[in-house]
Amino acid sequence: MITNTIKSKLTNKKVFPRGVHPHDFKEQTRDRAIEAVPWPKEVVIPFQQHIGAPAQPTVKPRQEVKRGEVIGTAGGFVSAPVHASVDGKTGPLTTVLTPVGTRVSAVPVQTAEISQEQLEQDLKDFLQPQGPVKPADLIEPEAIVKAAAEAGLVGMGGATFPTHVKLKVSPERKIDTVVLNGSECEPYLTADDRLMREASGTVVRGLMLAMRAVGAPRGVIAIEDNKPEAIAAMRQAAAGYPSVEVAVCAAKYPMGGERQLIPAVLNRVIPTGGLPLDVGVVVVNVATSLALAHAVDRSRPAITRVLTLTGAVHRPGNYYVAIGTPLSHVIEHAGGLKDDAAEVILGGPMMGVTMPDLSTPVTKGTSGITVLTRDQVVRRQETACIRCGRCVDHCPLKLMPTKISQAVKHRDLELAKAYDLMACCECGCCSYVCPAGIPVVQYIKSGKAAEMRRRAREKAEAAKKA
Ligand code: SF4
Ligand code: SF4
Repeated sequence: MITNTIKSKLTNKKVFPRGVHPHDFKEQTRDRAIEAVPWPKEVVIPFQQHIGAPAQPTVKPRQEVKRGEVIGTAGGFVSAPVHASVDGKTGPLTTVLTPVGTRVSAVPVQTAEISQEQLEQDLKDFLQPQGPVKPADLIEPEAIVKAAAEAGLVGMGGATFPTHVKLKVSPERKIDTVVLNGSECEPYLTADDRLMREASGTVVRGLMLAMRAVGAPRGVIAIEDNKPEAIAAMRQAAAGYPSVEVAVCAAKYPMGGERQLIPAVLNRVIPTGGLPLDVGVVVVNVATSLALAHAVDRSRPAITRVLTLTGAVHRPGNYYVAIGTPLSHVIEHAGGLKDDAAEVILGGPMMGVTMPDLSTPVTKGTSGITVLTRDQVVRRQETACIRCGRCVDHCPLKLMPTKISQAVKHRDLELAKAYDLMACCECGCCSYVCPAGIPVVQYIKSGKAAEMRRRAREKAEAAKKA
């Protein structure tokens, strides 16, 4: 039998062991060019769209704001400022629901008028900005990090880790490679694919800036083989840069995870509990790379993003959206939900989160909105584990999902931790392959949440005693 690993050796495509091959459903949107969504009457901009401390609001109610103006300053080093994504007038501070189910402080902004021509020009400038730029190696690394910090850049693939923190590598660390993560392995999503096709030059420019910031002499653009047009466009855009190469990866889920991507393209394994930095690598997402080019070359903050809206909507596509736009407005622009729409997911179906409230705004980390139909959300009856071991065979991190989930189910957090509960990347491969319909990853997620609460309690008690 020819295994996937043998196949990839024969074709020279990069691959990682284990994982799954779900149908990608990308045909709905992969050929839909990016389209600008008109501003809604009101955007609601959260002060926490990133990992770390929330931004501190600097605006008052009924204040006129200009697009790109700072409305919240970073609340610490691991934090990011927040900017007005539209021209308009602020309302009283409010709260909005986040994908993890918490509420965070936010400011509504009543938007001013913007014409269709202005919107289209803005999208054009976003994808293919014109005008001269300084060669990346003539820009000081500190200036790149500062521009990323001031622009409020965060990992736009969904991780939302502040980019300036990622790019500020201590001098003892030696980074030799920046990997541009163009794998976009989640089924349904095609926004990064479209960015690589429609904004290839700007994305490569961002990669060059990231390499300069961390002192890496080499850049690798990793793209799955189900995006042939993106591979061609990025090869062409990178042709003038001998330090940059394109690595074609086999389409396999979760190729986009750093712990899968780095072994696949560089044959290096991140140690358990470690980071890509530990193996001399920094990974940046496609949308983040594009945003970095804008931050450095045009001092443009993170105020818009491209996302895929797909599934049970009338006009699935890739949309250019102002941060703070309600999900309902994007859906309405795409012709609304179809009759059989049953569940709206932020992200894709493997790692995305159900959003019950469509007034929730698009944030810097919203890479996609997937609408599932009634047939797709029919829950399978959970039955007893038959110890088939499929979850173990497919776990890309070589964990024991069945053992961890059983321990969580029996409220034995210590046992779950002994089986490496916290190492799980929540990719969902275990649930996907389980023939008993056990929501393995859901149990694991609830165990991780319980452990985080326990740690927070412990910290609070220690602080009280000190
Ligand atoms: S245990 Fe975690 S890492 Fe392993 S397959 Fe399940 S969700 Fe993915
Ligand atoms: S795949 Fe499901 S049934 Fe099989 S061992 Fe894992 S949890 Fe049990």
